[in-house]
Amino acid sequence: MEIIDGKKTAESIRKELKEKIQTMTIKPHLVVILVGDDPASKIYVNMKERDAEEIGMQGTVIRMAGDTTQEKLEETITNLNNDPEVHGILLQLPIPDQLNEERALDLISPEKDVDGLHDINVGRLHNNKEGLRPCTPSGIIELLDRYHVETEGKYAVVIGRSKLVGKPIARMLEQRQATVTVCHSRTQDLATITKQADIIVVAAGRANLLTGDMVSEGVVVIDVGTNKVDGKLVGDVNFDEVSQKASKITPVPGGVGPMTRAMLLVNTLKAMKLQQ
Ligand code: NAD
Repeated sequence: MEIIDGKKTAESIRKELKEKIQTMTIKPHLVVILVGDDPASKIYVNMKERDAEEIGMQGTVIRMAGDTTQEKLEETITNLNNDPEVHGILLQLPIPDQLNEERALDLISPEKDVDGLHDINVGRLHNNKEGLRPCTPSGIIELLDRYHVETEGKYAVVIGRSKLVGKPIARMLEQRQATVTVCHSRTQDLATITKQADIIVVAAGRANLLTGDMVSEGVVVIDVGTNKVDGKLVGDVNFDEVSQKASKITPVPGGVGPMTRAMLLVNTLKAMKLQQ
């Protein structure tokens, strides 16, 4: 069994990016908008700013009050869209209830949409055209590539169908010639499906959802889940059991999480190139 080391892979990606950026006269600039003072979101945006700066990008956080109006938020986004010195815009989610998340996300210029959540980027992914892809599924593909996991002709099972993870990773795997089944909370007899899989991506947010008896020998398992159990961060996979059978598996922490962060930086550089 091989551990798919997301932390190490993310470090390599950051190193590669840093070297590229050193040669550039204009540095990529990522702006993160934080509305309100949700403690977890505050930590995330600070990490994103620091990640950017560590590799020589410019990182800026725009902090807006929790009672910000939709008009004010949209004005901020429009100004960033029009600013040629800003290459990537990320609206940290969730945003307070009085704000319309969908309208705000769709106002971000598709070429600066480093989260890949704009309808145009979702459509571009759907049609397999060049565009910005969401960070978590991009990070998973990068891990599969760097760990030489063959997808062509393989049976991939995705658990979860969110816009952020499940849907886009299913599409990407299908575009890489896998046969894909998407399972969700209403799926019946999940184990019968997962037992047939060559590759399983679990993104449900349910600790211990995938257990050893649900998988076959040699399966490749990507655990996206992040759950707090007794104050400890765990994934959706029962690692002790599943790792006995898997040929390759991601741990939590140290798997998909660090890759998501690294891919935001990759996307910022890609966004800059799209704008040139
Ligand atoms: P979500 O809540 O939007 O979607 C969860 C999906 O799982 C839904 O489609 C639901 O139908 C399905 N599901 C729930 N219970 C199920 C069950 N018992 N059986 C089968 N399917 C079930 O969540 P999301 O945004 O896709 O995130 C999923 C998990 O991944 C969460 O734990 C989240 O924190 C984590 N996550 C981690 C990263 C990272 O970088 N590590 C990034 C994004 C999300």
